[in-house]
Amino acid sequence: MKLSIPQKPNTILNTLRENGYDAYVVGGCVRDTLLGLTPHDWDICTDATPAEIKKCFSDFNLYDAGEKHGTISVVIDGEVLEVTTFRVDGEYRDNRHPESVSFTGSLTDDLGRRDFTVNAMAYSDEKGLIDPYGGREDLRRKVIRCVGNPDKRFNEDALRIMRALRFAATYGFAIERYTAFSLRRNAELLNNIAVERINAELCRLICGRDAEKLLDAYRDVIAVFIPELRECFDFQQHNKHHCYDVYRHMIHSVGRIAPDPLLRMSMLLHDIGKPRSCSEETDGTRHFRGHQQISADIGRDILRRLKFPNAFIDDSLLLILYHDVRFNGSKRQIKRVLQKLGEQNMRRLFQVQRADILSQSEFQRAKKLTILEDTIRLFEEILRRKECFSLKQLAVNGRDLIAIGVTDGRQIGGILNKLLNEVIDGRLENDKTVLLNIAKRYYYSGAVTEKSTSE
Ligand code: ATP
Ligand code: MG
Repeated sequence: MKLSIPQKPNTILNTLRENGYDAYVVGGCVRDTLLGLTPHDWDICTDATPAEIKKCFSDFNLYDAGEKHGTISVVIDGEVLEVTTFRVDGEYRDNRHPESVSFTGSLTDDLGRRDFTVNAMAYSDEKGLIDPYGGREDLRRKVIRCVGNPDKRFNEDALRIMRALRFAATYGFAIERYTAFSLRRNAELLNNIAVERINAELCRLICGRDAEKLLDAYRDVIAVFIPELRECFDFQQHNKHHCYDVYRHMIHSVGRIAPDPLLRMSMLLHDIGKPRSCSEETDGTRHFRGHQQISADIGRDILRRLKFPNAFIDDSLLLILYHDVRFNGSKRQIKRVLQKLGEQNMRRLFQVQRADILSQSEFQRAKKLTILEDTIRLFEEILRRKECFSLKQLAVNGRDLIAIGVTDGRQIGGILNKLLNEVIDGRLENDKTVLLNIAKRYYYSGAVTEKSTSE
């Protein structure tokens, strides 16, 4: 079997070989090539020591940030490739980091420290595929399986628990029984892992093609770091609009939106406040008044704890807060929401609403989708015709008001907002002369304070 290796990693393999060392491409790039995918990076392993690697590539730019782990980064035409000495890990501490690593001459030992069989293959043109743990067969059978004893491997490094779920979700693979059993049993070890690492794996997991399936089957693992989700597990909605419990509804909607971390994370949390807002009629029908705000409040805690960036959190909370806004065919309402969300989040909101509808019962589904389509059409028309929905577009600004004698900053804001409301409601034309006249009237009558905002 011959794999095609791009020029840059090939240069590295050849250079090492010419200097008498053994060298292979290894790990994710071998896995992805065998799957027919394009690897995003090519890692190389070799029996050369870090000092020897440096010597071989003395003509290149080198970084040795990972040298104590045996990794030298070689820069070829601006691309960074990692070259790592065969190594075995010493005892692990804190369920994540080995106390020490030691170098070895054995490729098989190096492959043996890797997490899953499908990640534990190496390849070179001379030696072909080196696959001591059955990775190729597991790829063929679409299985994620630990190399060696799963309990031991997850205790060494608990991040592997999330990596297993992520690979399974991304490639649509099953998790082998013992590996699955063990990762469930050891899930609490995730408490010892830095949230940044969990965050990175979670984002990739929820963007995988099988995200819904994995979030369902391994919900107890996810609940280790998002315990609030437990309230939603099996929480029945008893409402004709719904056919799933709250958790299943949310993860179903994750699978019905584009694979983007912001959209998918927002779907995963959008109804999380339902159990806390639940009220019941005498016939058992449940309602969830105010769940949007409660979901946003719980969502804020979760997103902060998981250290999402502030801009991500702000956008996500807006989507959660507005996910359920019932558009009624009026441009005025669309403009009000648009004013709050801005164009980009408005487009996201439409995707959120669509995913939400597709995760509800069939009841009135066609009607809901038609309303959504009509809303999107009106929204596009508002943008195309440059209809005014924001202070930025208003024909007067703060400077114009100062020019007619308004000096108090809060009053300026109040007047501009009141004018914007009138324009959005269609009671005033967005015309400078018209608006300035009205502004004067507001000002001299003292009718406006800074509180006159859009509500
Ligand atoms: P991707 O790059 O798509 O995330 P990958 O498998 O290449 O997937 P990397 O994090 O780039 O993942 O790691 C490269 C290789 O290093 C893996 O294929 C695996 O062999 C090994 N590896 C990475 N993380 C671990 C880990 N936590 N435990 C054991 N081996 C690991
Ligand atoms: Mg990689």
